[in-house]
Amino acid sequence: MLTGSKLRMTKQRQLILEELSKVTSHPTADDMYQVLRKKMPRISLGTVYRNLEILYENGIIQKLDVGGTQKRFDANIIPHYHIRCTICGRVADIHIEPHMELETEAKKVTDFDIIQHRVEFLGICPQCKKRQS
Ligand SMILES: [Zn+2]
Ligand SMILES: [Zn+2]
Repeated sequence: MLTGSKLRMTKQRQLILEELSKVTSHPTADDMYQVLRKKMPRISLGTVYRNLEILYENGIIQKLDVGGTQKRFDANIIPHYHIRCTICGRVADIHIEPHMELETEAKKVTDFDIIQHRVEFLGICPQCKKRQS
């Protein structure tokens, strides 16, 4: 994954990446901090945040541009769609193939060069559904 990357993997950075790779919950920097400080008591939220941004800038992890107030991170950088719970804000993966024909369609009607597309589904997660009934 890191072949060709000039990024120096510090011990902290390595641990952040390891922990992020273990989950599919698309944690925020704060979520990551809660997990990491159990293993590295002296780590600060600022350090976690900064390292997540650096990993993102180097293309090692994905930063999610979904609604909600806090940025979320994903160790899975293969293009995939997400669904967000409109009640609790939890984000999960949607396991369908990205519809590349959307880009072909869009190319026909815009002069922009299309780089990628994002799809965010909105819904109510199983836990919130249970709480509502
Ligand atoms: Zn929910
Ligand atoms: Zn994801």
